[in-house]
Amino acid sequence: MKEQQSLFEKENEYSPEEPYLFKTGRYQGRSAEVLMFRNYGYLVFILHKIRNNWQGGKKNRLHKHLEWLLDRGENILDEVKLTCPYCKEKKMAVYYSVLRSYYVNDFSIGSRYVCCENCKKSLRHQAFGKIPKIAPFKFSSIKVIARNKQEEKELGYFFQKAFTLSFKKLSTKKAFNLFKN
Ligand SMILES: [Zn+2]
Repeated sequence: MKEQQSLFEKENEYSPEEPYLFKTGRYQGRSAEVLMFRNYGYLVFILHKIRNNWQGGKKNRLHKHLEWLLDRGENILDEVKLTCPYCKEKKMAVYYSVLRSYYVNDFSIGSRYVCCENCKKSLRHQAFGKIPKIAPFKFSSIKVIARNKQEEKELGYFFQKAFTLSFKKLSTKKAFNLFKN
């Protein structure tokens, strides 16, 4: 495989021992790790803002942490806990699909609409007249696929299901450990 430059150009030496908790602002007291699932777009927005104001030199902790976290969000495909429903080998899923109708404004996602590296064709056949959009379980795909805040929210919960098999309250510790691995 060709080596690709990391989307978020993380600093290789940064490897946090603890999650990042926002001290001020809209998400005061909440962790960046949980926000990956609850408002991914906000984290991307904050990182862009930090980068625009950055004069070079030493990066602050939030700057480094977001670069690390957003980069991890692109590289944890092997942490997906859903199995591919199409192959006999029951391989782990790495893709998901979003189905939309041509006329009605609906949006379907779910653990049945996922597949492994080899079964994209089968996943596409599941679409029945709807328009499937297939994407890898990378967090950046949330921004690409979602057309509005509601879809972004639903995708965040779907990712939580895919990575933790649970819709229960996501703890900061659990989220941090997922990205830390
Ligand atoms: Zn498969």
